[in-house]
Amino acid sequence: MEDYLKEFLDLVKVHRFEELYSKDITAEKFFGFPIKSIVDAEKRLLSPEEPSVAYLSMEYGLGTSIYNSFLSTKPVSESNILPKQNIFSNMRIKDYYFTFKVDHRIMELPIYSGGLGVLAGDTLKSSADLNISLAAVGILWRKGYFKQNFWFKDGQVPEELNWDPYSYPGLIPLDTVIKIPLKDNDLSLRLWKYYVYSFDKKHVIPLILLDSDVDGNKPEFRRLTDQLYRSDNSYIKIMQRAILGIGGIKALEALGCSIRKYHLNEGHAALALVQKADALKKDDLTALEKDFIYTCHTPVAAGHDRFPLKELEKILPEENIDFIKKNGLEGENTVNFTMLLMNCCDHVNAVAKKHGEVTRLLFPQHADKIQSITNGVHIPTWISDEFAGLLKKHGNDIGDCAACRPEFLNLGKLRENQEFRLDLWKAHQANKRRLQSIFENWNIKENVFTICWARRIAAYKRPSLIFQDPRRLVDISKKTGPIQIIITGKAHPNDNLVGTFINNIMNTIDSLGPQNSILRIIMLENYDIFFGKILSNSVDVWLNNPLPPFEASGTSGMKAILNGVVQLSTLDGWVVEAAVGDIGEIFGYQHKSGEPVGSELDLRLDSDSVELYNALERLVKLYYETNQNGTVNAGSKWIDIMINCIMQSHYFNTCRMVKEYHDKMWFDKK
Ligand SMILES: *Cc1c(COP(=O)(O)O)cnc(C)c1O
Repeated sequence: MEDYLKEFLDLVKVHRFEELYSKDITAEKFFGFPIKSIVDAEKRLLSPEEPSVAYLSMEYGLGTSIYNSFLSTKPVSESNILPKQNIFSNMRIKDYYFTFKVDHRIMELPIYSGGLGVLAGDTLKSSADLNISLAAVGILWRKGYFKQNFWFKDGQVPEELNWDPYSYPGLIPLDTVIKIPLKDNDLSLRLWKYYVYSFDKKHVIPLILLDSDVDGNKPEFRRLTDQLYRSDNSYIKIMQRAILGIGGIKALEALGCSIRKYHLNEGHAALALVQKADALKKDDLTALEKDFIYTCHTPVAAGHDRFPLKELEKILPEENIDFIKKNGLEGENTVNFTMLLMNCCDHVNAVAKKHGEVTRLLFPQHADKIQSITNGVHIPTWISDEFAGLLKKHGNDIGDCAACRPEFLNLGKLRENQEFRLDLWKAHQANKRRLQSIFENWNIKENVFTICWARRIAAYKRPSLIFQDPRRLVDISKKTGPIQIIITGKAHPNDNLVGTFINNIMNTIDSLGPQNSILRIIMLENYDIFFGKILSNSVDVWLNNPLPPFEASGTSGMKAILNGVVQLSTLDGWVVEAAVGDIGEIFGYQHKSGEPVGSELDLRLDSDSVELYNALERLVKLYYETNQNGTVNAGSKWIDIMINCIMQSHYFNTCRMVKEYHDKMWFDKK
């Protein structure tokens, strides 16, 4: 075996190496993974011949707790393990007497809040799988997003998350500290690295993380990288964007990376372009325009970053302000980062076909350059072991599905194969039994219809829709068969409207106590990627009911279809493209092409819930025709739908998405 340690340490100046990391970083291994892959990736990034890409994002959900988890010689530090989670159910006595048990597990690297971050993480993993030379930039959030605590019927109480980056396996501080020039006070940032490996461990994407908790920074500066998305204060928000954008460019320079293209995931990183313009000393935009790529993630007009010009003037140097005034002003006093990027990037993409349509409607002056590249999920991360095993067992007929060229369409050939249909059902039941064991104390049953709603609690996603008419819910479970509902998600702590949603849902759950023999409802505290995987691969039906057209894409349903989980969804985001494949029940209000976008506050709860219940009733009926108390009807239409779902994964994955980024945005041949 060759000794790569010296080469590694020459390329990567690890801070406090001897003291903290010399047992985990050795001649061959980096926290249990091949160190050679890192050396290769770092060298490629230094080479001017290599067309390397930089990807900047405010958040990354890497799935460090569920996929490619690093090994450490040190035991997991207590502060990096999540404390127990509470449950709020309509079996209340159980909530008091039982704690919810999952094996002692390491907390997910807490630098994300939801789907946007998970997409960024999956993008890096697929870029590694495709052996692309890419350096990612983000922020090391010292206190994460927040920990959600339920306070009985009073809803959610946020708590600061304290974790220890120095003992998180695979995360390493560098000696490198950079400075970003601000109007009257320089800000220092320490660089950290985390390495994202490909599924075969041969390739790596280095993720550079910026940290303002550095000696020499004044106390307010040291807290700037504490909490993701938690401040409403425009000064702090601008400073965080300066850290990501300006700090990102400075960090890439300090590390000697030779970058051809810059991909900004959402407008948060817009100041990277401003910084680069300044470095080029160019008023002429053409050089920049073709090097910057912008992915826009929300059709909610109010969801775009806007700041008062005078606030920016207090912070940024004059050259930056001149550029911003020229390219990003909306009216006289407001700077709009979305407009700035739409004005200055040749390549802009929306995250699903429907979202592209809506974005072109909202920004008609830029309609020509707005492409649609539909989101995906990283298959090796989100496929359950049971389903990976199923695909492998039938690999002769299907081909390679686990790696980067997913052959899921070949599943169609097995549709009439009884053995396959039974194996598929068995794999699903095995996943469901794991769910049953996790929620053992709440009597969750493997042969009872189970539906889940799990994502960020935002108004337009309508978390309470299924609870709109509790009597109807009871009625369906009496008439058609018992139902188990699992609901989970965090609400942004400053969003009062969604706070009331949580309270109302809890009141409804409480009021359904007497019905708990036929209708079991569980609300799980502190939703995260770990549960994102378990829930999306083991329930029978995945509920997705955003108000069209406000869900740009959505990705949790893609994790579910990959594991044969049937969809109950409104027609919005990615589902518009998938629905032709008959993946379950589609219901509710539909947004017609070309119509005005409407208001995201007009939630249509009454009319859409009526349709939701009708569709739910049909699904419950079909489920109990398929699963008669443990005996399966293998010819059932339900299993056909499960097969249709998995087949759609041939498209809804980040391997396809990153190839499209590569061919249409980064290295577009036209
Ligand atoms: C996948 C995922 C999401 C995204 O959910 P949507 O369906 O896109 O709303 C959010 N949070 C976590 C933890 C996830 O794993």
